[in-house]
Parts: sequence; C-alpha cells; structure tokens
Amino acid sequence: MLESAGRFAPSPSGDLHIGNVRTGVLAFLWARQSGRAFRWRIEDLDRVREGAAQQQLDEFRLLGITIDGPIVRQTDRVEHYAAACRRLEERGLVYECYCSRKDIQSAPSAPHAPPGAYPGTCRDLTDRERTAERARLERAGRSPALRLRTENSQRPVEDALLGTITAHIDDVVLRRGDGVWAYNLAVVIDDADMRVDQVVRGDDLASSAPRQALLCDLLDLPVPQYAHVPLVLNRQGARLAKRDGAVTLGQLTELGFDVWGWMGESLGFGPWRGVHDAIDSFDPARLRREATVFDPPPLSRGAAEAPKTGR
Ligand code: GLU
Repeated sequence: MLESAGRFAPSPSGDLHIGNVRTGVLAFLWARQSGRAFRWRIEDLDRVREGAAQQQLDEFRLLGITIDGPIVRQTDRVEHYAAACRRLEERGLVYECYCSRKDIQSAPSAPHAPPGAYPGTCRDLTDRERTAERARLERAGRSPALRLRTENSQRPVEDALLGTITAHIDDVVLRRGDGVWAYNLAVVIDDADMRVDQVVRGDDLASSAPRQALLCDLLDLPVPQYAHVPLVLNRQGARLAKRDGAVTLGQLTELGFDVWGWMGESLGFGPWRGVHDAIDSFDPARLRREATVFDPPPLSRGAAEAPKTGR
C-alpha cells in the first residue's frame, strides 16, 4: 500500500448535507486528477449516530464514487494514537491539564495569543501542584486531559487554495479528559498510516492545518499537501442546517434536485452530468474560491415526516 492518496474523513454524527457531499466529491476528484488513490476514514471517536457511517458510504457509492483500499475506522486505531502520544511524552512534550472548559474561558489569555487559545495554565506546574490537582479532579470524578507543549509555535502551511496559513498554535489537546483521543492527533497518525499526502477538506478546518503540520514535524511524519475548499452556506451566511429546508442528499434526490448539475455549476465548471463528466472537467486551477450560498428547496411533506433512517 505505498501509493499516495487523497481521502475523505467524515464524522458519522448525522446525515451529510449537500455542502459536506460537495467537499467529499472534491476530495475524490482532486485525488483522481492528481493520480492518487482515494481513501475513506470514519472519524467515530466522538459523536456517532447509529447507522450514519454506513449511510454516508452508501450515498457516495450511489453517486458513483469509488473508494480504494479498506475503510478505516478510528475507534479501531486507538493503540496507534496511544503509541504516538508516548513518543511525544518521551521527548517531554506532553503534560497533564486539569482545566475545565470554564477555567479556560475565564483565564486571561497569554500575551500574543488569540482569544480562546489555551493560556498555558497547567504547563509549568510543580509535581506537588500536579498531585493536588489530580486529587481535586478525582474527587469531582474527572481525569486530566493531555496537552502538547508547543511554546506558542508558528508553523506556516502552504495551501493550494488559501496560500500560506499562519494560524496561531496553542498547546493542543492530545487526549481529552474523558479519555477520547483528540481529533488533531488522530488525523495526523491516520493520514500518515493511510499514505494520505493530499488533504482536501472544508475551509472551516484551515486553522487546524498548522497544528497538524507541527504534530507531523514532531512525530517525523511527512506533511501532506493541503487544499481547504470553500463551504456551502445558507442565505444568512451560516453553515447549512436541517431547519434550512431540503439539505441532505436523500431529501434533495427525493425532490428531483440535480445534485451533480448543481455541484459542477456552483464550483465554476458548469453543470456536471455525473461522476465521469466531473472527472473529465475537474481542474483545481479553475475551482471557484468563494463560498456558495445554497437556498434549499422547502421540504416536501413526505420528506419532512419520513423517519431519519428512511434511506
Ligand atoms: N471529521 C472531520 C469532519 O467531519 C473532518 C476531518 C478532516 O478532514 O481532517 O468535519
């Protein structure tokens, strides 16, 4: 399995809306256009809705998207995340953090750090302080999180669409207090193990790229090429949501909406007739860079009342 690859890595927390689908289709087209394999990962460490992972896969297969290699599931891979964390720990780059979300929000932010960044409260505690903090958490039935010691690093990343991304890097969580391995660590380990060297995903994740690249550097893993693609928004300029109308592939197909036609058109290529047409016409240089506003058709009565798992 040495060939290089692109990937799509949806979280199986619910139905994919048309914007998520368009992002996944772009990841597929970009991988194919650049001669890469296209892999699929189920990011099920966190919120999971029963049946959603399978439904997402079925929807892509129905669109004619072909997936290479085995489907990877993050919950099958926790020992790899633990091993990576140990490697960082051996180099003194991991520390326990006892802060709650509220503690972090109410702490003054560190100089030069953007609001919301971790202020470093637990970075330099003494052993005595740590023992006391651990006991305090234990009494409250909580466990410490693990964080990466970054020393407020910068790690600029080149993005095929956005240019240089220079988002601030704070001490990212590696393992949450509830024991769940954190997104940033898992993504980096998985992409490397899956030979993913091209990451195409929504531009809401662009600010994660520098911290993921830093983790790659620290773990001696290659940094993939990034392309953060524009999102699909509702008329108010917010993320699409169920209450906006017919937004899922199932709902739109039921209404006879031309999904491929809309995807091609909204990305600047003119209407696509299907997956083969899209593969033939896709060209990253011609990709529209602006977000798309999608005004969803109203839900038909049947679709509104259909059970969630109906398709
Ligand atoms: N699982 C993430 C999501 O569904 C995507 C992660 C990634 O592409 O790096 O938003």
